[in-house]
Amino acid sequence: MTSSEDSLRRLAYLKEMGIQVWQLRRGDVSREKGAAIDAMPPPVAAVGSSPSGTTHSSSLQDWQSLEARVAACDQCDLSQQRSQSVFGVGHRQARWMVIGEAPGADEDRQGEPFVGRAGQLLNLMLQAIGLKRQEVYIANIVKCRPPNNRDPKAEEVAACRPYLKAQIELIQPEVILAVGRVAAHNLLQTNQKVGVLRGQCHRYEETDIPVIVTYHPAYLLRSPQEKRKAWADLLFARQQLGDH
Ligand code: URA
Ligand code: SF4
Repeated sequence: MTSSEDSLRRLAYLKEMGIQVWQLRRGDVSREKGAAIDAMPPPVAAVGSSPSGTTHSSSLQDWQSLEARVAACDQCDLSQQRSQSVFGVGHRQARWMVIGEAPGADEDRQGEPFVGRAGQLLNLMLQAIGLKRQEVYIANIVKCRPPNNRDPKAEEVAACRPYLKAQIELIQPEVILAVGRVAAHNLLQTNQKVGVLRGQCHRYEETDIPVIVTYHPAYLLRSPQEKRKAWADLLFARQQLGDH
């Protein structure tokens, strides 16, 4: 792909997000797919499958046992009505982690987070700042679908918490993007509104991993005028990377 094709694609994503083209001139999106992506190590799966790939074998075992535990988990009532649990997807050495709320109907069916309409918008948001879906890691606060898309209950979040914590510890992302109220409230142990939490650099528990809060893409689909703020949040999140 030529760079002009690439920037045309970028323009299309930004348009989808409701970002006007004049903003491009301010250099907001100039970094594109720079050193960050080129420097990205190969996915762990590829490392593990090579005969000499022993260095990651312990974390690969950790991933495998974690994934197996989530697949078979019955630690809360959400296990009763799911088709399958939705573990998470993406690069296991990602610099960015995106954390949403819970699987919806599409995710429950396909076993992958953010594959429905909200997921399509999330993909566009990521692409607008030069990130491919495969190079971030995407997970949810709870791994199983709450019936009728209700909010997960406190006891369900508590039961599921160790899995997300283990994922964060294995990945050690440079930034966590908390999308929506449920993700923000549970990651940050607060009840403040998303509108108040965004624009600040929070930290995940006792770590120094930055947590940036933004609107949920499902909310942005209902309130497209807020996409502009979500774009600002993405730029702010990128500023938290070591070499932004
Ligand atoms: N909404 C979420 O919060 N997570 C998903 O995986 C899908 C929709
Ligand atoms: Fe287990 Fe989490 Fe699913 Fe509850 S939501 S059954 S704790 S994986």
